[in-house]
Amino acid sequence: MLWRKLPGESGIRYLLLSVVSILFGLPLGYYASQLAAHFGNTGAGSPNSIYTMAFMVLIFIILFLTGIIAQKAAEEHARLFELKSFKEYADALHQATSESEVYNILFAYIGRMPLIRHAALYYYSGKPLDEGFCQKITKGKAPLCSMPHKACPLIQSETKRMEVRIGKSSSCRHQLPAYKSGSYVCIPIIDAGHRKSILQVYSTDESLLDRVNISNLKFYTDIARAVIHSRRAIHALSRKASTDKLTKVYNRSFLEPYLENQIEAASLSNQPLSAMTIDIDHFKRINDTYGHSAGDHVLVLFTDLVLKCIRKTDLLARYGGDEFIAVLPSTDTETAQVIAERIRQAVASAPIALPDGMEIPSISCSIGISTYPFHCSSMDELLKTSDMTLYKAKQAGRNCVRIYGSDLSHLPTGL
Ligand code: GH3
Ligand code: MG
Repeated sequence: MLWRKLPGESGIRYLLLSVVSILFGLPLGYYASQLAAHFGNTGAGSPNSIYTMAFMVLIFIILFLTGIIAQKAAEEHARLFELKSFKEYADALHQATSESEVYNILFAYIGRMPLIRHAALYYYSGKPLDEGFCQKITKGKAPLCSMPHKACPLIQSETKRMEVRIGKSSSCRHQLPAYKSGSYVCIPIIDAGHRKSILQVYSTDESLLDRVNISNLKFYTDIARAVIHSRRAIHALSRKASTDKLTKVYNRSFLEPYLENQIEAASLSNQPLSAMTIDIDHFKRINDTYGHSAGDHVLVLFTDLVLKCIRKTDLLARYGGDEFIAVLPSTDTETAQVIAERIRQAVASAPIALPDGMEIPSISCSIGISTYPFHCSSMDELLKTSDMTLYKAKQAGRNCVRIYGSDLSHLPTGL
């Protein structure tokens, strides 16, 4: 490790090793030859100066070779340490579930690199732009620069990174004057949303800017960037797989596991959970009268109307055709009835215009409500009871809201 702390590239290190070997090798060789001459004195005529030279060269070679072997061993040890660290880093990244977690892992591993005195990370956590901006500095140090993130030259340019030997290469105008020596590197990380985060590392040692150290830093940031991009892609794909293509609300495959979880949460927290089955009345007539694409358009308008009537914490899913399910966590039957009535009125009173501007007669919907745990004891029963109640609303003449529990005896299905 001491070897790695020596300044300069390997060529300079070999030169230093030679100088040290000569400095120690010559006197040691000299004294060794004197000793040999003393103990093995064969009398007059012994070639003392040749022995001396031979010993000096021998000791020099031994020292030089020992130095090289020690250096190789130290390099090997450092390489193994780095490999182990890279592997742990990659494993940790692949287990990260969010963008901020990826950045936090990057920050933790960079902070452990041997030469780095401290590091700073300016990043977006994946939330809306200003709200999600974060800044982290290792080891409780003051930041290296007074940079407002948006003013950073790396944010505004295409430069891949900035390497600065303080006091030697031209530094950034934001660098604080308290830092008089050492070196630093700033690397932008462009995320999938084309926003730039900045990693900044500072070392008191200029060898931070050596090729090997720079490529290690690059490795850490490249892999973090790749994981962030793949997380975004997976998120986009799973969102696509769980939503209905036409109305963009959740689909049935998303709804069922979601509802299962919500029922478990309601049961643990002892809270009611209501579900509404909402169905457009005589929707088939719209298709038959105005065409299928007009029907599609009405489905989208209808979805928007319903979404405006429910809360952010509620969920709307298209269950199939013109039938939708609204899940209302922590909602009793009476509150669900108020919300359902609001939906019914909003739908019935909304003007319906087709994309070509033509206005068609208003539509209406029927709604069945069921509440866990009062009307049912499982997800299947919740869906079944709210569907049965919808049937009751349809039978009652449509454009109305019904609650499970009153006179369902005439219905064809039962629990
Ligand atoms: P009710 O009042 O009893 O619900 O009558 P309805 O006509 O709405 O009921 P029905 O189930 O007979 O008709 C639903 C229609 O919805 C039948 C189907 O062609 C139509 N449909 C289902 N999915 C889509 C879709 O994605 N786009 C369009 N345009 N129509 C659809
Ligand atoms: Mg219908």
